[in-house]
Amino acid sequence: MSNGPAHLSAEPQARSHTFLALYRSSGFTSNPSTRGVSVPHPYLHLSDDRLTGLTLFSDHLEPCPQPKGRDVINPHTGEIERVAHGWDDTDGNHHVVRCEKNTCPVCVVINAQRVAHAIQLAAPTYAIFLSLVGDSAAEIMDHASCFAHYIRRDVPEFQWAWAAEVNPQLTGNHLHSYVHTLDRPYKIPKRVIVKAAQKARLGLKVGVKRLSPDLPADWFGYPLKSLVDPLYAPQFIELNRTRRGVQLIHASRQFWRDGASGPQIRRGEAEAIAYRRAQLSK
Ligand SMILES: [Zn+2]
Repeated sequence: MSNGPAHLSAEPQARSHTFLALYRSSGFTSNPSTRGVSVPHPYLHLSDDRLTGLTLFSDHLEPCPQPKGRDVINPHTGEIERVAHGWDDTDGNHHVVRCEKNTCPVCVVINAQRVAHAIQLAAPTYAIFLSLVGDSAAEIMDHASCFAHYIRRDVPEFQWAWAAEVNPQLTGNHLHSYVHTLDRPYKIPKRVIVKAAQKARLGLKVGVKRLSPDLPADWFGYPLKSLVDPLYAPQFIELNRTRRGVQLIHASRQFWRDGASGPQIRRGEAEAIAYRRAQLSK
């Protein structure tokens, strides 16, 4: 018996011609747009202008509407008032402690920024795009683990972080990922990705790009860009939901690390280290 994902023996799922025709006639023929994105991304042409114009790292974010704190009764009025936790810095500015929840429209963007910094810290060497990855969060996770299972036959050290996204014209879902191969300098040719995508029953339109080592964090926030738009954020959160709740990003066990030659670390550590360094370097 193989140790692969349980659904490998299932019957292939048929996709209607209408569905595939719709898919082919949409994102892949759109015009490129670089509006609002500081570094061109290889897959910009796969989405529409509204979606590709989004960036996690805009200049201004509103304060968290529900900062951490406690409710106290005002002895003069009898009203219950919210007192936010906070601290004053050396310049006398008061900072409140944000709620950090992924359900908060402000904090989810900051959480996503932290993920982008952590991905940058992991020093991925490839960006891989996959199409027609499934119709629900559960199906996409199943297909993604199947894809990773097959690609590891050619690239045993394959580690990745990925997020699924709805095609802007609702013609299916695609997936953006960042990949590294631990300390082994594997080449990942497109044919290997196509083969794994085919075996995992994904769309055969795939993209792969070798990454230079000096890309900024906003580049790595591209898969999470939907979170800044109230129209797309709920879809994104639902599509990337795991059994443990909303995680924003999926990653293989050994993806998170402190630099290309650094130690493997947990995701929380990666986010904290990367975000702190980014704040210090501002
Ligand atoms: Zn918040």
